[in-house]
Amino acid sequence: MSAPILSQAPRIVVLGSLNMDLVLRVPHMPRAGETMLGHSLTQVPGGKGGNQAVSCARQGAAVTLLSCVGEDAYAEQLLAGLVADHIHAQHVQRTALAGTGVAVISVDDAAQNQIVVVPGANELLRVPQALLQAQLQGADYVVLQLETPLAEVEQALRLARQTGCKTALNPSPMQALPEHWWPMVDLLVVNESEAAQLCGRPVDTPQAAAAAARQLQGRGVAQVVVTLGALGAVACDATIANDDGTEAIPGVAHWHEAAQVQAVDTTAAGDTFLGALTVQLARGLGLNDATQWAMRAASICVTRAGAQPSIPYFAEVETLTG
Ligand code: ADP
Repeated sequence: MSAPILSQAPRIVVLGSLNMDLVLRVPHMPRAGETMLGHSLTQVPGGKGGNQAVSCARQGAAVTLLSCVGEDAYAEQLLAGLVADHIHAQHVQRTALAGTGVAVISVDDAAQNQIVVVPGANELLRVPQALLQAQLQGADYVVLQLETPLAEVEQALRLARQTGCKTALNPSPMQALPEHWWPMVDLLVVNESEAAQLCGRPVDTPQAAAAAARQLQGRGVAQVVVTLGALGAVACDATIANDDGTEAIPGVAHWHEAAQVQAVDTTAAGDTFLGALTVQLARGLGLNDATQWAMRAASICVTRAGAQPSIPYFAEVETLTG
């Protein structure tokens, strides 16, 4: 499978967080009260907004990031990284009122992670309506997560509807969301625990994921993908309404199994997945082909350490596809 050749790169707007990740490699997760020796501490550019923007850019999209950072050294490093990835970062806000967001990420020898985020400047993101409207005009997708104020995310959902830009939402970290959001979401990507929280029951098998996807579509979301870590992902396409609006043909849920790889760090796997999925959908691929592509991108990501450094380029995914 290769991407269709289009004369223009897909245009993606990402509204979301930028964090400096402080990555602790540890033998195992410390228990309460335990003092232990770690293997290493590194600084890696991250934040869900930044990661998803980098994933989209490395898949060949023209990306604009709307975000907020402090006036500190972490901000300089993060902005330099965005520029290196050819991401339009001129509208990233700077604030003197808070430090740049920081995530302390512990990764153990079994490649499991635990993450504590201190949002800092991300909580102060306020995007003027006129700027957002101008950015969404002509964009294929706006990509959203929940590490920035919900009012900003809601504004983007509403304006995207008005401008004809599609919306992709990754509701992470999960929090209570208003029901009226769901019909404004074209693509919802959730992992097992997010799906479980949204549906109020465990989602740990492909069958449960398919049921969860259907339940979420019942609330008004068009396309739903539930990612299942090493088990892959379940993609459920939009319900197709009949012309007369009387009946609808439900989309079919497909389980796509992940390639077996030696995972060393799953940080940013979901962000890599969402970025690659969105860009391939914007290029015109169907949901199942786009999901296959995104899974290959994510399977490369988990074999590498760190957030943004681990996100693959289009050509690497293409090589893997053969
Ligand atoms: P999140 O990072 O949001 O928790 P997941 O853990 O579900 O999301 O991972 C997202 C995607 O990354 C999965 O659908 C899968 O394609 C890929 N992935 C994650 N872990 C592995 C793994 N151990 N082996 C292969 N692919 C993986």
